[in-house]
Amino acid sequence: MSQHDSLSGLPGRHFLFVPGPTNIPERVMRAMDRPMEDHRSSAFPALTHSLLEDLQKIFHTVDGRPFIFPATGSGGWEAALVNTLSPGDRLLAVRNGQFSTLFINCAERQGMVVDVIDVEWGDGVPPKQIEQALMADTAHEIKGVLVVHNETATGVTSDIPAVRQAMDAAGHPALLYVDGVSSIGSLDFRMDAWGVDLAITGSQKGLMLPAGLGIICVSQKAMAKVETAGCNRCFFDLRDMSKANMGGYFPYTPALSLLFGLREALDMLLEEGMEHVVTRHHRLAEGVRSAVDAWGLKVCARKPKWNSDTVTAVMVPEGVNGAEIIDLAFRRHNLALGAGLTRMAGKLFRIGHLGDLNDLMVLGALAGVEMAMADAGAKVEFGKGVGAATAYYQQNPAATR
Ligand SMILES: *Cc1c(COP(=O)(O)O)cnc(C)c1O
Repeated sequence: MSQHDSLSGLPGRHFLFVPGPTNIPERVMRAMDRPMEDHRSSAFPALTHSLLEDLQKIFHTVDGRPFIFPATGSGGWEAALVNTLSPGDRLLAVRNGQFSTLFINCAERQGMVVDVIDVEWGDGVPPKQIEQALMADTAHEIKGVLVVHNETATGVTSDIPAVRQAMDAAGHPALLYVDGVSSIGSLDFRMDAWGVDLAITGSQKGLMLPAGLGIICVSQKAMAKVETAGCNRCFFDLRDMSKANMGGYFPYTPALSLLFGLREALDMLLEEGMEHVVTRHHRLAEGVRSAVDAWGLKVCARKPKWNSDTVTAVMVPEGVNGAEIIDLAFRRHNLALGAGLTRMAGKLFRIGHLGDLNDLMVLGALAGVEMAMADAGAKVEFGKGVGAATAYYQQNPAATR
């Protein structure tokens, strides 16, 4: 380790612009910095119940039941699948990036048979194709539809209400599984209104915490499958979790520091108001996109309607290696950018703009991107992107309170 705060060895604040983990607000850090306690004390249920109640507000659900596991988003996938399905069950899934690929992989490793709709990386989920596939399944063999709300690998946000409409138009009873790991707590997400049965997230993105919690929310319709689901499970068994949670406890030792942090993070989000959280992310993202335009570069999302307000994937100019931009940004400018994953390696870099951020932090990151692009051999007119974003933020002020 170096004498400085970040692994880069450079002084000053580290500019964390990967799309998770995100910046942890000082308030949340202070809330986590306290001694351990007995998680079986008589005072503990008040904390558990308050977290589960307030999580419902983040998911926008009244009947859906949130569950908190010591895990990550990937553990959330597994928890959602094994508690509601049996090996051999058929699923329908859309693959449009690395996270949807991994979600499908998780289901396959649990013994499910997945019909995959492949689309271009950079495309959103195609509701029409989902509708057609479900219409063709007259025997209702398909037990679930798997989609990623915000494909973090490509910076693509899909239209989940349209997926629900497609399922209803087909009159199909399959459960709707939505990975909301990089959307819930940042983008508009409405579990009840959109008819989502299993919503999945993790702690280190919109919830502004360290990694370590896998959080899922389960509709009543999905809860009804838990008893009969045939998958083996122990750690992720919702029957144990549900029983313990009713009393305000956990079936095993909870990640207590993270729960204290979650309490504070939920307070912050709810104090701001989820609608304001959503508009804040949109505004920050618009500034980033205006910079990308000014650089003359393209984003990976193939239509503007799919542009993500939590992460922008920037296609690098011809002859420049995206991985080099990222490495130089880190080593020279103390700026962490997201890499291009698997088939996108080297072709793009990602700017995460979710969680605890403001205009000036984003402008600093954009200045770092300009320098790192130049470091890596790209032609850059300094200030072009930063100037465009500055103008956008100045001309579209955030609502003050
Ligand atoms: C980060 C992420 C995941 C994986 O979460 P982990 O916490 O790393 O297990 C899954 N899906 C999406 C869309 C993500 O952005």
